[in-house]
Amino acid sequence: MLPTPRMLLSCNPRTDEPVGEVAAADSAAVATAVRGVRAAAPAWAALDTAARRRNLDRWRRIMARRSGELRRLLAEEAGKAPADALLEFDLVLHHLQWAAANARRVLAPRRVGSGSMMLGHRSTLIRRPYGVVGVIGPWNYPVYTPMGSIAYALATGNAVVFKPSEYTPLTGAWLAETFAEAVPDHPVLVCVHGGGETGAALVAAGVDKLAFTGSAGTGRKVMAACAESLTPVLMELGGKDSAIVDADADLEAAADAIVWGGLMNSGQTCAGVERVYVVGDVYDRMLALIADRAEKLTAGVEYGAIAMPGQIDVIARHIDAALADGGRAVVGGRESVRPPFVDPVVLADVPETSEAVQSETFGPVLVVNRVTDLQEAIDRTNASRYALGAAVFGKRRARWAASRLRGGMVAVNGVVDFGAVPGLPFGGNGASGFGRIHGIPGLEEFTTCTSITEKRFRLPIRPQRFGRNALDLRALELLLMRHRRGRG
Ligand code: NAD
Repeated sequence: MLPTPRMLLSCNPRTDEPVGEVAAADSAAVATAVRGVRAAAPAWAALDTAARRRNLDRWRRIMARRSGELRRLLAEEAGKAPADALLEFDLVLHHLQWAAANARRVLAPRRVGSGSMMLGHRSTLIRRPYGVVGVIGPWNYPVYTPMGSIAYALATGNAVVFKPSEYTPLTGAWLAETFAEAVPDHPVLVCVHGGGETGAALVAAGVDKLAFTGSAGTGRKVMAACAESLTPVLMELGGKDSAIVDADADLEAAADAIVWGGLMNSGQTCAGVERVYVVGDVYDRMLALIADRAEKLTAGVEYGAIAMPGQIDVIARHIDAALADGGRAVVGGRESVRPPFVDPVVLADVPETSEAVQSETFGPVLVVNRVTDLQEAIDRTNASRYALGAAVFGKRRARWAASRLRGGMVAVNGVVDFGAVPGLPFGGNGASGFGRIHGIPGLEEFTTCTSITEKRFRLPIRPQRFGRNALDLRALELLLMRHRRGRG
């Protein structure tokens, strides 16, 4: 008799009521899943990009048709407001379409100039899928975030084993189920469920690449485990993104965007706004505009619950720290924390050394600080160990400021807009990770490349051989002289 699998219960963070359950995967089950997709991977990789695109387009249509189910799951399992669930799902389909349509640009062999030393050769770069990609996802955007890896990995011909967050397993299962319905001949997307131990089992199961999205702390453990087998990793980690407001910004529009960027999805957005730096002249007016908008919003109405219970303690701790360190609460405060909800909190004049400025809060809390000029705003933004995204509001110098920021993405006169442009890579630097999802770099991320040189004709000069003659050496001397003159 087969042993009864351990079940993983999924609960609604708003009510704590069970939403459903899935079988949890132990390391043996994870290994079986990896073996299964590995067996199916060659046939999927052998399809041409047009055929893979047709399959992925069919998946997209089926997901769109069954969208009601996923939106309900996002509301029930991740505690999302319906509008946030709809936005997330639209973004997912947008990216899937783009990845399927553009994979051929990355997989087509690319001719490369051979250069003066290798005249007579044809040089070509070819890219191939890795094979099996393990994807480990977070709970805050349980479809959008992992699909940044899953869609791009599948489009480039990989098979995927996906471990969704233990807080959003049904959402992950729905993705695998709809894929199986759309692409029954190619079982190249499977889901394994469980917490950290299942994720660790996936890392150790011999995948060819690991795409991790989550906190910097877990990322560190995953990377250390990948080092054992030299498995390449993609790290999409947390952020402490700032919005910078210059004196010539449209303040009303900036306030609308910043409040949305900080509070949407209950502030549980990796690239959401957590810090705001406002240039002195317009600080008081900007703070008032932000406060005015934030205090009209209520958790549980415009945005949803905090999906992971432990996060509520982090949010409360950061509010306490900001106030203890000398900051002031302009909207809400400690009383805003009423689990599983947190009402909007706007804090002002919080010292940069405070935990509320230094660490990721991941809640509907905005810290709004005054700076003397744009340069100080840039310096403070860049001083964070995180460098994921940022926003700059202004007219004359906003683009200049954007080019001085250390993060991987910047929105000018908007927030998180880069995440909705499939052609733009998404990812961070520093403690926010490395590697990119989305765009051409996001497709390349799931391919490995091989460089091929092909001798087309034999030249009289052949310096790469034993028994070189005077002519060969003369040719090398001439090449050296060209470099001395600064030529190529
Ligand atoms: P987390 O680090 O707690 O968990 C992420 C995933 O890792 C989960 O599936 C978890 O089960 C798994 N895991 C835990 N321990 C593991 C281990 N030892 N080995 C392998 N897997 C393990 O993160 P979270 O709380 O689910 O997500 C929130 C975090 O994710 C925030 O920091 C947020 O900023 C970040 N995030 C980043 C991006 C991005 O694109 N940069 C996007 C979304 C979320």
